[in-house]
Parts: sequence; C-alpha cells; structure tokens
Amino acid sequence: MITTETIKTTCPYCGVGCGVDAKVQQGNLIAVSGSTEHPANQGRLCVKGSALDETVSHQGRLLSPKVAGKNVDWDAAYSHVASKLSDIIEKHGPDAIAMYVSGQILTEDYYVANKLMKGFIGTANLDTNSRLCMSSAVAAHKRAFGSDTVPGCYEDIELADLVILTGSNLAWAHPIIYQRLAKAKAERPEIKIVVIDPRKTASCDIADLHLPLKPGSDGFLFNGLTHHLIANKKIDKTFIDLHCEGFDSLSESVQQQTLVQTALDCDVSAEALKTLYHWFANTECTVTLFSQGINQSSSGVDKGNAIINCHLISGKIGKPGAAPFSITGQPNAMGGREAGGLANQLAAHMELKNPNSLDKVKRFWNAPNLVQKEGLKAVDMFDAVGSGQIKAIWIIATNPVVSMPDADKIKQALAHCDLVIVSDSSDSTDTLQFADVCLPATTWGEKDGTTTNSERRISRQRRFLRPPEKAQDDWKIICEVAKRMGFNDAFNFASSADIFREHAALSGFENNSVNRAAGNGERDFDISGLAEISDLEYQNLEPIQWPVNSTYPKGRKRFFDDGHFYTASNKAHLITITPRLPTYAAGGDQLILNTGRIRDQWHTMTRTGKAHRLLEHIATPLIEIHPETAEQLLIKNASLVSLKDRGIEYIARANISDAQRKDSVFVPMHWSDAFASHARANSLVRPIQDALSGQPEFKHSPVTITPLTPRWQGVLLSASDFVPDKRMEWFKTPLANCTLWELIDLEKSPSLTWLTAAYPKVDQWVHLVDSEQQYLSAAGFIGNKLQVVLLSGPALPEYDKTWLASQIGTECSPNQDRLRLLAGYPADPSLQTGKTICACYQIGEQTIINALQNGEANSVGGLGEKLKCGSNCGSCIPELRTLVNDYNPDAVSSAVETDNTA
Ligand code: SF4
Repeated sequence: MITTETIKTTCPYCGVGCGVDAKVQQGNLIAVSGSTEHPANQGRLCVKGSALDETVSHQGRLLSPKVAGKNVDWDAAYSHVASKLSDIIEKHGPDAIAMYVSGQILTEDYYVANKLMKGFIGTANLDTNSRLCMSSAVAAHKRAFGSDTVPGCYEDIELADLVILTGSNLAWAHPIIYQRLAKAKAERPEIKIVVIDPRKTASCDIADLHLPLKPGSDGFLFNGLTHHLIANKKIDKTFIDLHCEGFDSLSESVQQQTLVQTALDCDVSAEALKTLYHWFANTECTVTLFSQGINQSSSGVDKGNAIINCHLISGKIGKPGAAPFSITGQPNAMGGREAGGLANQLAAHMELKNPNSLDKVKRFWNAPNLVQKEGLKAVDMFDAVGSGQIKAIWIIATNPVVSMPDADKIKQALAHCDLVIVSDSSDSTDTLQFADVCLPATTWGEKDGTTTNSERRISRQRRFLRPPEKAQDDWKIICEVAKRMGFNDAFNFASSADIFREHAALSGFENNSVNRAAGNGERDFDISGLAEISDLEYQNLEPIQWPVNSTYPKGRKRFFDDGHFYTASNKAHLITITPRLPTYAAGGDQLILNTGRIRDQWHTMTRTGKAHRLLEHIATPLIEIHPETAEQLLIKNASLVSLKDRGIEYIARANISDAQRKDSVFVPMHWSDAFASHARANSLVRPIQDALSGQPEFKHSPVTITPLTPRWQGVLLSASDFVPDKRMEWFKTPLANCTLWELIDLEKSPSLTWLTAAYPKVDQWVHLVDSEQQYLSAAGFIGNKLQVVLLSGPALPEYDKTWLASQIGTECSPNQDRLRLLAGYPADPSLQTGKTICACYQIGEQTIINALQNGEANSVGGLGEKLKCGSNCGSCIPELRTLVNDYNPDAVSSAVETDNTA
C-alpha cells in the first residue's frame, strides 16, 4: 500500500515565513499546501509557495564537489578548502578571508559560519545578502530601542484601525500578509489603509489613500508627521516623559517641516498629506509597515528612525494593533540577525563594540581568536575582494553577480580573487562561473533546521526529501572545513539540533536582568528556554516567537508593552534626523531607476525559474514607464528599450503604465545571464550605501533610456538546446515541454540558412518568407515531430503562446495543416487563452475577459466560482479586480472584496 506522509515545514522564500504541509509519497513530494495551524499563514500559501513542489527536481543541481573544474570527493574538497584558507591566513592574516552568506540559509548554518569566522579564524568579514534588504531597519531599531527588536506581530496588522504601507508592495512581496490585511479590511471596512510609494502598486488595490511621493523623500514625510503630531498636541506626553529621551531636540528639529513644506519636499498634494496626518494623529491602533523602499536608501536608517519617532511620541507601540513594523525580505533574515550574520554584529544580539559582550562570547565559545573589530559590509567586502585586500571569499547560497549593486564590478572582483569558494545547490548561477571550488549544498526539503520570520517566530524547516547523493548541509560543510583547520572540538556537532541548543544557550548566557524590569534580560534575544530540548523536542518544535525563557516560556507577542527598552537608561531614543534626497539626482535626459520584485519570482530565479507556471505571469524582463515619458521618448508599449549608465546596459521591453511616476522607471531585479542577454538590473545600480547600515541604494540610480529599433525580432519555441548568435539580444523562458526564446537582432534580417544551421538534426522544414525578406516564419520537424517554430518580423509577432507551445513535440504530418503553426494561432478561436493571470490554475487573460463579457461572472468571487482563478493562493486577485472593472461596467467588485482562500 502506498502511504502519504505530511511533513510540516516552512516556505523558503519571503520573510512572512508561512507554514507548509509537504505531502510525501515514496520519498517524493507530491503536493504542498498551507499549514492551517501555522500562525503566520493559517492555511494560505501565495503562488510562489504553492509552486514549491515544482522546484524540487534534481535537474540543474550541482552534483559533486569540484576543485578547478574537476570532480573530487568531499574529503579532498574539505582538505583543499581548509589548507588554502589556512595558507592565506598565515601569509596575509585573518582579514584576508571573507564569507558572504544568505538569508536563505538556516539559523544553524548561520551559527557555525559566524562561530568559525568571528571566533576561530578571527575576522568579522562575514556578511550576508540580508545586508541588501533590511540592515537599515536593524540599525534604526538599535538606535531607537537599544536592540534590534521588532516590537509587534502579524496579528497587529489585523487589529489596527490604520495600516500604513511605506516602501512596501505587500501584495507582491509579502502576499500572505497582504491577504490577511485584505481579509481584515473586508470584515471591517472602516480600517484605513494608506500606501506611500512612488509607484501605484498592486497594494493600492485595497488602499483608501495612495501618496505617490517623490522617490526617496520619505524622511521629509515622516518628519512632517512628527511636526504635525507635536503642533496639534497629538502626542502621548506621559509615554514620552516616562519612556523616551530626546524629545526636545526632535521637536526643535522638525519645526520647519510644516505641511506645506512637506508637500513641496515630497511632491504630493497637501490635501492627501493632511488626510494621512489626521488619520495617524487620531487613530490609536496604527501599524506602519516598512520594507525595502525605506531600507534600500542612502538614508535608510534615518527614514526608519523617522517612522519609529512618530510611533514613540504618540505612544503607538507595544500595544495590540500599534507598532512600527519592519518586514524582512528573506525567510531567515531574522535568524541571521540572531546568530550574528552581519559583519557589525557579534552573536546572539551582542555587539562587537561591547567589551563585555566580547568577553562573554570568548568564554562561551572558548574561542582562541575572537574578533575585536567590525568586519567589512557587503559592498565594501566586494571592493576589498576587487582590490586584492581579501584573498579568499566563500559565498554560500547567494548569487552576488546578479544581486549586488554595480554587479559587473562583482564579476571583475571575483575574476581576480585568488580563491573563490561557492556553496550552492544550483549548477548554473552566474556566480558559480567564477568559482575555484564548487560545493554542492542541500536545499529546501533536504535541509533540516530553523528559520525566524518577520514577527520573530522561529519555525522548523524539516528534511523530507533525499538530497542528490553528494549534496551536503551547509552547516556540515562549514564544520568539516573548520575541523580540518584545527578547530575540531568547537565544531564537533552531530546534528542541527546540537547547533540549535548551543545557539539557544548562548542567547541566555549571562543575559541577566540587572537594572532591567522584571523578566527583561540585558538582551532582547533570549531563547534559553530551548537550550536543553531533546532531539525529539527539536524535531517536533512548534512555531514560537522569541523570547523563549523562564519569563516567557511560550514566547512573547509584543515587546515594549512594559515601556522598557534596551538602552542604558531603559528609555527609547528619539532620533533627530536630517531628511535628504538620494545621493544621485537624475538630471537632463536621465530618469530614476527603481528596482524591485515582481509577483511570481524570487531573487535570481535559481529556484522559481524551475517552476514553469511562475514564468507565466511575467515571463521576460521589463521596463515600466509612464505614458507621457514614453511618448516624449517615442517608446511604444512592448517595444525594445535600452537603459544605460556608466557604459552598462540593460535591455528589456517597455511596459507603459500610469502606475509609474514620470521621473522614474521600474525594473524587476530577478533576471540573470541565465535568462536574458542584458537584464541584470543591479548592474545599473550605483554602489551608494547608507553610511550607518551599509545598505545599498537600490531604488535610486540615474539612467538614460533609449528606444531600440531591431532589424528583426521573433519568438522561437524549441524542444532542444538552442544557442543564440552572439550579436543577438534574447530572453529565455523554460516552459513545461520546450523553451521559449525571444530573439532580437539589431543588425541583420533573419535567414533560413541561419535557422537550419542551428538545427542540423531537423529533416523537414516548412517556412514562409516575404519578398523583402523582412518576415520569416518556419517550423522544423524530425520525422513528423515538431521540434522548433520561429515566428519573426520587424515587430514581435502576436501569437498564442499556450497553444503553440502545446504543439511542440507533437506529430504533424505533411498532409496536416502545418501552415497553421506559422500563423501562431489555433484554427478555433475559442481555444485561445491569452496571457496567464492565475498561475495556480493556469487561467489566461482572454478566458477571463470572455467570462466577464459573456456575463458568466461579474466579480472576482464569480470568476473564482466559474474558472477557479484567484481561489487558491489569491496572488492574482488585484489583477482580476482590474479586469472585472475594465470589462464589466456593472461589476459588483468593490475595493474591499477579498480572496476566498482559506
Ligand atoms: Fe512563501 Fe508566499 Fe508565504 Fe512568502 S507569502 S512565505 S513566498 S508562501
């Protein structure tokens, strides 16, 4: 009898940290669903989480350790890495070594990486790609609270009467929190939702107010709010007197930030600003949720503190439904912070600059070489690699050649580095091309450990799949190298449970409550209550919010409900800031480049790129641009456009949208050299950092934009490998049964000779070409089986992707209608589906429009009943609502209609 086992684990994508029920049959993952008991998602999964089962194949996996391109066994790989690192340390000192890790790895991986680098090698050159997503929020928390504490929890977002989303496209970047908010709004329409964002994003769909502020001007806006609260006596004087310091200087600093001045500074209407300020001033239960739009800035820390100031002076903190709330991008950004995964942290929320902390950690670890100073943060770290100051870098579970700012410079730095070690599960990241040593790592489903989400909730990621034979857990790889470097005793861990217990013990080590309110230790992060759990208890650990100690054995929802902060005086610090615009202003013919996420992709697509349905919503890179800007520049929708800066080029198609400001363009950050010829968006991002946090300014780089005029362009659907000509631009989309290429040639017209040369095994061709040889359509067969179809011309041809792709690999004999393939559409128009809107059920735009126009549905809910679209993960609901409004004037859709998911 075949049995099905359900393993409870956690989604590996965003910082929401949803619980996932993985259904496993005979060692294979057959389905995933949201865990109904997990407090973060309560049964829901977004489209990315719902497609996890499509991403676990061993296709594209790194299968063996490699040294200098040759497969070796693990023992040889460990010994090679250990001896190379030891040699470099001996010759150049420990600071010649660096490790760059990721918010994707587990807390246990982080713990041993940090212990090895800071305790035993003796360098703090350990940084993480979380530097790129939330390090400004960390610094803002520490300045205000004396600790990196997220005060609230997800429940607060539902309990609030006013929710402000600033620098957050929650609907796409953290979809399950968005769905919880949408549901709360549907149940209590009186909840006010405000979106502060230069773009009109999908999150505006449920907003009562959108402020499309000037990019980067958020600091002015929140200082203006502080001014408004003080001027209108909407402050909590008692809370300030008892629990805050710095009010007088804050008050003085915002005197000039009047409403009128702020409207000018932010380029928003004074009326809209007044509404926001009035709502904030008069709504006790307010949550301000902020994310990358605030953090990824040269003044990200100040912006975070400007937000926190507003909450502190009005007492909107530590209460149900009231908190400033930084939401993290990655699944374990928070766990990395706990373990000390940033170059300016020590461990367990202890600081490198604190001699007492150094002494404690040195004794706890019995560390011979405990580091004494901060290390290099990500941008500076790669600069040091480029300059030769760092001789060896070990990159774990991240793809900096795509994700770092000024990403071409990262390529150059790695190309010149003496020793590049890359641990990854994928065999084809852009970064792996520079590796001297490749180490195959386990990945989601194969790894075992813990992650912590944005509300401080620790959840288990459980192992339920057999990894490829030679893949190893990251913690194991690090420990084996450490042992061969002579640090045997400190890295003799038998399991991730062993590591977790030590991590938990360190969090409680001499974390006493001298000068603290009862129950508050010296440090906020304390999970000492879990330090002695058995292997079985670890295996069964339920999601729990830290702290977990003798005072809070079942965790704690909210911090600061007692008014005690982790500063020397126990009072929160109100931080006076000087708001400022980004370092580089766009001028002349330049626009502002804003990079960010799209709905269905994650980071550099090494995992989500394997799930075909996640490539349905947006399949190729794009440049979102305002209609007036596009008109001035003679750019048409879907035409090919180039963005340039400093000789670096990004090429994609224009997506003309009035969601964009006229002074800006938006591009997604996901595409790598594996998926497009010139679409690594972060190569255009200037490496400007916040001076305090080291977080780069991803949202504001100057670019010039130019329309391109291809000689020809086309789509090519291919069942087999295909390599475009070097001169061509291309976008590649893996589909279920073939690969779709968009090809663009700026120089030459298409030719059948070129095509037939690219497919030497094809034995039959049908083709159409016009007399001026501008258009070429061709279909190639091996026997009667369709191998390849090309449709091309001066403009990108229209065609039905779903139908044409379904023909690849099928039999079509010469006496069948082979020319139909060259038309690109099925003979029966009712078979056309259009662009996929609902990725879960593969429902196309045309199918939805037909249902609306035929009167088969007149609401989002009705579409769900008729076509199932929007009824699983709910990620497409904002787009369904737009279609309902566009194609059915009698729609019953309203701003608060919500999903019908669990
Ligand atoms: Fe995963 Fe989506 Fe949940 Fe984020 S919101 S953790 S991507 S299922």
